Parts: sequence; structure tokens; C-alpha cells
Amino acid sequence: MNDKINGIPAICGGSPVRDKKLYYSHQDINENDIEAVVEVLKSDYLTTGPAITRMEKMLCEITGAKYAVAISNDTAALHIACLAAGVGPGDEVITTPITFAASANCAFYCGAKPVFADIDPETYQIDPADIERKITDKTKAVIPVDYTGQTGALDEIRAICDRHGLVMIEDAAHSIGTKYKGKHVGTLADMTTFSFHAVKTITGGEGGAIVTSDEELYKKLILLRTHGITRDTSLMQNESDGPWYYEQLLLAPNYRLTDMQAALVCSQLDRLPEFIKRRKEIRAKYDEAFSKMPELFVQKEDKNSDSCRHLYILRLVPEKLKIGRREFFDALGAENIICNVHYIPTYYFPYYEKQGYKKGICPNAEKLYDEMITIPLYSGMTNEDAEDVIQAVQKIVDYYRV
Ligand SMILES: *Cc1c(COP(=O)(O)O)cnc(C)c1O
Repeated sequence: MNDKINGIPAICGGSPVRDKKLYYSHQDINENDIEAVVEVLKSDYLTTGPAITRMEKMLCEITGAKYAVAISNDTAALHIACLAAGVGPGDEVITTPITFAASANCAFYCGAKPVFADIDPETYQIDPADIERKITDKTKAVIPVDYTGQTGALDEIRAICDRHGLVMIEDAAHSIGTKYKGKHVGTLADMTTFSFHAVKTITGGEGGAIVTSDEELYKKLILLRTHGITRDTSLMQNESDGPWYYEQLLLAPNYRLTDMQAALVCSQLDRLPEFIKRRKEIRAKYDEAFSKMPELFVQKEDKNSDSCRHLYILRLVPEKLKIGRREFFDALGAENIICNVHYIPTYYFPYYEKQGYKKGICPNAEKLYDEMITIPLYSGMTNEDAEDVIQAVQKIVDYYRV
């Protein structure tokens, strides 16, 4: 954020559209959410207690998946999903570069290498044709990301994974509440991971989960979540010494979630229908307004995707504006609309550069990055807030139109 913007007149003249800053995202916490956390604090279990069980049950009910595993965050979820998929040293995992770094980092955690497939230029979702081009005999898994909360062509990706014997892990950090062909996200991939970080649609402060309908994967995930330790006698290799006895069967981290977080997630999940409705309303308002401005390109959605939109991407049409993304971003800031950019292509980061990744791998993703701004979208926004955003965008577009 550019501090110089604060307190000075709007870049496009006049006074700012808003007096008070509007941020791109904000959590939506009500009294019931607070009460749910306080209840846990007064109870007997702060971790691995009934709130975890309740959260897992709710995720199964909402998604239609058979099993759910609550995890400390989505980064951890992606890590152990890759381990459960058998990803290891020398393997390759295909994902999109237009995502948070965790979607690709999970391959490195397992000693494998992320491989980037480009995005569709209109939906911004991973392109199945490019996934297929990037498959080698080392490829083990594909991680499509439901970017902005929409799904991509999941049937096609499923078919590619089946044809090549690959595990499909859907990073659904953005897409709780989204459906594909009428089915909830969570039943389409072998494993689907969620994030309940503070900026996501549903939050536990931090938090995550994996859902799957595969019993074998579920059993592995349970072990991988907690040190590789089991109390299940049917899995033990030695005779039990007594009631205190447990065994560590493999080496794994501690990726447990607390019951305080799980209770907050449950309370938020109760409100999911309300969140979906509100996010859809704001998205519809934006789509309607921006589709009338030729200076902007409105993200398309796969015909089978019915999204609970998480992020709203404003995309500039460079030939029609005198300014670029940076100037547009600053001009919105001067109107007190505080935006963000999701995402810097993952392989641009110095860590990736050091591993030998070079610019140019995914031209559609790189072009999108140069032209996009994430504008405010969250369930607590009022209609006036959304209209302020539209008014500010209109003001800037009018001022800088070619
Ligand atoms: C937020 C996010 C993650 C990471 O989630 P955490 O719960 O913060 O670990 C991973 N992938 C995507 C697409 C995300 O947006």
C-alpha cells in the first residue's frame, strides 16, 4: 500500500469517493461465532475434542464427501494430501501459477518438483490441455485450484488424471460453497483441501481440512496429521503394554487444529448459505456494472461452475486505458478503495528462481498478473460499499480512457 495516498485528494480529481477506507476482504464474525469459541474455552477439551468431530461431520454433510480431516491450515493439508498421494523425491506435481504459493510448495515439501500449467485466458482456471502437455513419467499428482471460488473444467481434469493414473488434489481454499454440475466441491477430486484463514469465506482465524471419499486415503491422512501415531490396535505392530499404549508407525508432523478454531469454523459453516447469497449478490452487481465498461474484462465462469465467489478480479484492457495496473491500483487507493493483487505467478519468487524456474513458462498467467487488481468482496459489505467501488472504478476509467 502506498502511504503517500493517505489524506491527499483523489488522483483523478475531486474528493475521494469514500471517506472511510474499504479493504479487499474482512472477516464476518457475529455474536454466535464468539459464543461458540467461548463455550469451548469453558469445556473439557481445547484440542481433539467434540468441536473437531462436529466440524468434520459438517464438512461431510455440506460437501457430500465420506470423510473429513480437520487440519491446522490449508498449507499443511496440501502437504499431507501430497504425502498420502505418494508424492516423493523425484516426482512431479502439476499446478497453476495463479495461486497462493502453498499450492506448489507442497510438492517441494515432499522432495518433488512443482510443474506449472498455464491458465485459460478467460476463466483464469488451469487449462486441461496444458496439464496434459506437462505430464511426464514422473508426474504423480495434479492440483487444480478453484481460483476466485470458481471451478475450472473439473471433468476434463478428472479424465486426464484417470487416463494417466494421477492423483487429483483440488485446492479449494477459495471455493467452499461452490458447486460443479450441481455437486458440491469436495466430491470431484481424490482429495479436496480447504482453508479457513482469516481472509477466506469461512474462517477459524487459521484452519484447514481435507475431504475425501477414499477410505485408504482417509486412514493415511489421520496418521499423517498426528506424528504418524495411532491408538488403533488393528494398525499396531506389537503387543499392547496396557491402556496407555500407542505406536508411532511413520514420521509425520503435528498438524492438528484446536477446538476453539473448529467451533468457530462450525459456527461460520452454519452461516454459509447467508455468505453464499451475499457474495453472489455483490458479484452480480460488479459483473453488471463492469461488463458495461469496455476498458475492463469480466472474468468468465466455466458453464458447469456455480460459484460462491471468494475474490473479485478487476482486469484492465491495456489498449483502452492510458494507465497500467500500478497506476489504477494507486488511483483506487486514493479513492479509499484498498485493493490487493491475487496472485504474483508463483515461479516469479526468488526461491523458485533459484530452483531454475524462468519467466515465460505460462504466458496467459503472466499477462493476467500484469492486468489485474483484486477489489473488495466480502459478506459484510453493504450495497453502498459495493456502489462506492463501482463509482470509484467508473471515475478512474472515465479519467484515463484512451
Ligand atoms: C489461502 C490459500 C492457501 C493457504 O491456506 P492456509 O490455510 O493459509 O495455509 C492455499 N491455497 C490457496 C489457493 C489459498 O488461497
